[in-house]
Amino acid sequence: MKRIFVAGHRGMVGSAIVRQLKSHSNVDIVTRTRSELDLTNQQAVDDFFATENIDQVYLAAAKVGGIHANNTYPADFIYENLMIECNIINSAFKAGVKQLLFLGSSCIYPKLAVQPMQETALLTGTLEETNEPYAIAKIAGIKLCESYNRQYGVDYRSVMPTNLYGPNDNFHPENSHVIPALLRRFHEAKLAGDEQVVAWGSGKPMREFLHVADMAAASIHVMELERDIYDANTEPMLSHINVGTGIDCTIRELVETVAKVTGFTGSIVFDATKPDGAPRKLMNVERLAALGWTYNIDLEQGLADAYAWFLANQDSFR
Ligand code: GDP
Repeated sequence: MKRIFVAGHRGMVGSAIVRQLKSHSNVDIVTRTRSELDLTNQQAVDDFFATENIDQVYLAAAKVGGIHANNTYPADFIYENLMIECNIINSAFKAGVKQLLFLGSSCIYPKLAVQPMQETALLTGTLEETNEPYAIAKIAGIKLCESYNRQYGVDYRSVMPTNLYGPNDNFHPENSHVIPALLRRFHEAKLAGDEQVVAWGSGKPMREFLHVADMAAASIHVMELERDIYDANTEPMLSHINVGTGIDCTIRELVETVAKVTGFTGSIVFDATKPDGAPRKLMNVERLAALGWTYNIDLEQGLADAYAWFLANQDSFR
């Protein structure tokens, strides 16, 4: 029986990983709520690992948010993410945990990285300023894993998801990412009979989106790869693997698809006073493809699923 700790099991990615691990045999899934275990508290995390006999860790706990939240609460984003990563990785190592998967973000790459972004683009240029503190914390997470691997011979891997969406997303009107924000806004506009919906920025930035069920499947796939195969397809100091579809669209196209999925028939205007963020963020997913994984859920199908989840759960939002 393998004891697997999913850190962040109430979040969008962690909950999707737990749902999929439940169908695996011989696994014992360990989770802790925030009130049971404060991951920013070093002593508490140390005590947890010292007593729980964990074999594998999915590090899906993080403070995340959209462009506005990152811009408004930069101290919280860098502090909480660094603390969570340092505590979990170091305590897991001290307790003898051999396998860990760290979940990062596509914002680790330079703002003007060549598109699609290859893993080798890491640390080759200046980051996008709206989420630089968050990105620095996520880069530190990759480097923590690599450093423990190099110094101590453990097997701590990293995956970098593109923009994710799906069940258990955060649907906060201002602080969320673009997909949940738009699903909610279009839905509410439809109910209110509004003729117009406002989307942020110019509509010109390009983004790639991945349904979280695909992200969970990719995470488990990467965690379960034989070590020699993972090592042969990565480098000791460039060990992270991009996870995405390899396909992007403009924000305007996304907005139109959300309108279609939610059944909103009015007009759409763009508020250019809101930030655009990076001009384009598309992952090069060749490394993952070479390791035998590609996505399943296309954008329109995924948006319909996310909207169905929103409709069924809108009373219980955080
Ligand atoms: P990013 O990928 O880190 O830039 O994060 P977001 O998901 O927050 O934003 C992606 C893009 O969608 C940006 O160009 C935003 O300006 C645009 N966008 C359009 N409407 C919205 C909205 O209602 N909320 C958010 N968060 N972004 C929006």
